[in-house]
Amino acid sequence: MKEEIRNNVPVFDLKRNYATVKGEIAEALDRVLESQLFILGEEVASFEEEVARYLDVGEAIGCASGTDALLLALMALDVKPGDEVITTPFTFFATASAIVRLGGTPVFCDVDPATYNLDMGQVLSKVTSKTKVVLPVHLFGQMCPLEEIAGPLRERGIAMVEDCAQAFGALRFIESRSQGGKTATTISRAGAVGDVGCFSFFPTKNLGCYGDGGMATVTEKGAPLADRIRSLRVHGGRKTYYHDEVGLNSRLDAMQAAILRVRLRHVEEWNERRRAAADRYRLLLGEAGLLDRVTPPMELAGGRHVYHQYVVRVPRRDALIDFLAEHGVGTRVYYPLNLHLQPCFEFLGYGKGAFPVAETLTDEVLALPMFPEIRPREQERVIEVLAAFFAC
Ligand SMILES: *Cc1c(COP(=O)(O)O)cnc(C)c1O
Repeated sequence: MKEEIRNNVPVFDLKRNYATVKGEIAEALDRVLESQLFILGEEVASFEEEVARYLDVGEAIGCASGTDALLLALMALDVKPGDEVITTPFTFFATASAIVRLGGTPVFCDVDPATYNLDMGQVLSKVTSKTKVVLPVHLFGQMCPLEEIAGPLRERGIAMVEDCAQAFGALRFIESRSQGGKTATTISRAGAVGDVGCFSFFPTKNLGCYGDGGMATVTEKGAPLADRIRSLRVHGGRKTYYHDEVGLNSRLDAMQAAILRVRLRHVEEWNERRRAAADRYRLLLGEAGLLDRVTPPMELAGGRHVYHQYVVRVPRRDALIDFLAEHGVGTRVYYPLNLHLQPCFEFLGYGKGAFPVAETLTDEVLALPMFPEIRPREQERVIEVLAAFFAC
């Protein structure tokens, strides 16, 4: 019995994480409670400044969720009925729902089989005279190579909104050659490339709070776009009780901001732990001779993947899920149904076969246990059970 309990590996475990910051969180919450200031205010402003500094962006605007961050971004870019927004069918629902909520049309584009991210080579072929925004998602913590499309989109006057909900801290190293022939490396951070970066602080995200929370980032300090997002999050007004347009009630509350300020101080270390766990999985898969059955996630050269999820591809996926569950190993499938095949998007007119890569992935992907505090012994156990499954 004892052995069995020890062998259980959860898909994630927030309690272990909480134990590492409990004291700091109590102090932060007490500060907010003593102030009795709960909505926006100094706590949120300080968190916004700290994130802006961390991500090296001009403006960071807290809001109520990642979903709202996407909605606010698209509202601020004036997405209206008739406008097309190019995005991926292999993502969480909110990426596309924000477009449809505003009457815009999601135009899906297939994904890259190696990274599961939008296929950058196909994006530009989807552009029409109605394209207003391209909305890439940095899925599972890996940043898309946006440098491949940023220039052409800018030339055509098409905006870019990054869905960074799964990619807090992800980045790419971009090599550029100057006229003198010298190469320089610059860091391109998720959320600092497009017109707006959208983050979620849902509890399980790499930087999570203890409820709902989100943020929109804008590269240039004082940009009109940032001012518009700030106004839209408080009912479209810049002065209380005066409204320039109809906005949302989408504020980040002070308790969540106080929690996030504590957690922001640790997120770098937590992301490094995730990366170390990913390295260990790959090593263990190789040692177990499983690499011909289990395809580990591919890390693009020049990138820093932050492993929000560790998603492998496997044959006989559904049978494997049951086998792992019987042996106490938790897994998840992100995502079991592509967005172009969701009942609520039937009106868009896509059918099965429209995006072969995304559709194949849906049948083969499996997220293994991944969280900063996962123990090497637990990862060994996951691989042991995987090996047992493929041995029979
Ligand atoms: C989590 C997530 C969202 C939505 O964030 P919420 O804070 O839950 O609203 C949007 N896009 C992606 C890719 C996500 O993973």
